[in-house]
Amino acid sequence: MGGVKVFPSQIQSLEAGTWFKAICGASFQHLPAIRTIAIAYALAGADCIDVAADEATIAAARDGLRVAERLRPEAIERGFPAAPPPLLMASFNDAEDPHFRKAYFDPLVCPPRCPRPCERVCPADAIDFELGATGKPLGVIDARCYGCGRCVPTCPIGAIDTRSFVAKPKRVIGAIISGIDAIEIHTRSGSEADFDRLWQAICPWVNRLSLLSVSCPDSRDRDAIAYLRALAAKISPQLAPVLLWQADGRPMSGDLGKGATVAAVRFGRKVVAAGLPGFVQLAGGTNDRTVTKLQEAGLRLGRGGISGVAYGSFARKLLAPICDELEAHRGRDRLELHPELLWRAVRLAHSLTASLKPALEEARPMP
Ligand code: SF4
Ligand code: SF4
Repeated sequence: MGGVKVFPSQIQSLEAGTWFKAICGASFQHLPAIRTIAIAYALAGADCIDVAADEATIAAARDGLRVAERLRPEAIERGFPAAPPPLLMASFNDAEDPHFRKAYFDPLVCPPRCPRPCERVCPADAIDFELGATGKPLGVIDARCYGCGRCVPTCPIGAIDTRSFVAKPKRVIGAIISGIDAIEIHTRSGSEADFDRLWQAICPWVNRLSLLSVSCPDSRDRDAIAYLRALAAKISPQLAPVLLWQADGRPMSGDLGKGATVAAVRFGRKVVAAGLPGFVQLAGGTNDRTVTKLQEAGLRLGRGGISGVAYGSFARKLLAPICDELEAHRGRDRLELHPELLWRAVRLAHSLTASLKPALEEARPMP
């Protein structure tokens, strides 16, 4: 790794509007699940795997990608795409951001009769009342929590809170740069000073990347597009890698239902209309309805339109049953040791990648 890498296949996907990114989660650090997600989506033809900017997480994803490349010939024989290895992306935030937080509570304050709605609502199985090594109930399992916040309002006694963290890129980036191909900066309108600080830390390394992504949600009270234009003016002149704008519709909600994707398509349309330099991808609420919604919206696909889709909670939820089954094989929980689970996982991942790739190819306007 290291140095700007050439990745013609991924550029082709961006140009064609078939770029697929699997998001493990900017604060999701459950290493066995990350490894499983990386293997399954790599073999299913993903262009990029996006993980937390943390050494152990990147090592787990990298290990998964190595396994996927060993298995690639067999995957092709089984009819899965003859795709090149996906890029590995690390996500940083410039200020407080829901992607970069963890829930916490003290399980000792929970009334014994509480029906535990927090546990039921958690999409990541991150809340557990089993006794830990100290003899105390576990509560929130930090590595599994990805900060969606759904547990917080369910608690009848208001015991659950969240802790945000902001990346320390100066400390982290030197250690991870050789293991990654791309960086994503999470920002929001109004955070220009925080963005500047993060950009100053990332800038010296940026020419060692293949791709830089900027992720931003829409904003009701501020002009998100004016903000993105200001960022583009700041970063484009210094940029060798490909630039990608992530329109983050309704963050971390893709598994909540069909309608979750509407906000991403709406914001994507605004970002496309802004004519920023580089490519645009959708995220935030993306799911198996996103491609249909894109087609219904009549958005241009590829360069100058929507170049691809990033899938987070929906992509992870698809593989959750596989991760659960693997966990039951304590000590033998590597996906490649269980061929039936492995190919089931790749089939599930492929059901999502295939929904994007051929559908968008068909829908692409003729030149
Ligand atoms: S519901 Fe969301 S915020 Fe709460 S513990 Fe689960 S993953 Fe974390
Ligand atoms: S809902 Fe609140 S009180 Fe009930 S188990 Fe969860 S954290 Fe404890």
